[in-house]
Amino acid sequence: MNSERRAIALFGGTFDPVHFGHLRMALELKEALGFDEMRLLPSHQPRHRQSPGVSAERRREMLALAIRDCPELTLDDRELCRGGDTYTVDTLEALRAELGESVSLSFCMGLDSLLTLPTWHRWQRLLELAHLVVATRPGWHLPEEGEVAELLRSHEGEPRSLRESPAGSIVVREQTLLPISATRIRQLIERGQSPRFLLPDAVLQYIEDKQLYRTATESGC
Ligand code: ATP
Repeated sequence: MNSERRAIALFGGTFDPVHFGHLRMALELKEALGFDEMRLLPSHQPRHRQSPGVSAERRREMLALAIRDCPELTLDDRELCRGGDTYTVDTLEALRAELGESVSLSFCMGLDSLLTLPTWHRWQRLLELAHLVVATRPGWHLPEEGEVAELLRSHEGEPRSLRESPAGSIVVREQTLLPISATRIRQLIERGQSPRFLLPDAVLQYIEDKQLYRTATESGC
């Protein structure tokens, strides 16, 4: 085991808006797996899902507000700065070039995201660049057949694998995930109901000040 190897985790998402489900998961993964850094990585416009409801800049500002008192979590806004389509594989290649070959990179996601992996751009390359850390969500089960099941079988790792090598393992973590989704928050606001206690007050205040998510196609700026 190489205890000297730095281990950096990335938690990607649209964060439209960021909520306590994301924040809790990121913090728990950082503490449970002993990462040196946990970076929240907002995506500009992922190919594999509908366009986010509000602008990249507003999602970035909401994230910054959400973690301003939490030094354990940091914001990596490189995908927003790049603009256009977001491909995780390009981001990981850029990080590798920047951080070097030996640092351990882990891309964290919920099981729902893992199940869509075969639709991601150059997805087979992802595990050459990083580990995948998958947190299971209530009501979801690991697939038993298909490409994702095969991938899980061939790359199954343990928490210690994350420091033993820079990339290449899939670590599945069972943890209680808060039953919160950004979709639900957007729906509540659209219906004139309060999403309070599902996301940080500072983020809710920002949403109210900017009058975000009032309609299904809120464009933000
Ligand atoms: P939407 O409802 O718009 O699809 P979301 O709440 O699922 O959004 P995303 O930004 O799409 O949030 O998700 C980013 C990452 O956070 C994904 O890997 C997803 O699995 C994970 N995630 C989403 N909700 C939760 C939650 N309640 N607890 C832990 N992880 C979550």
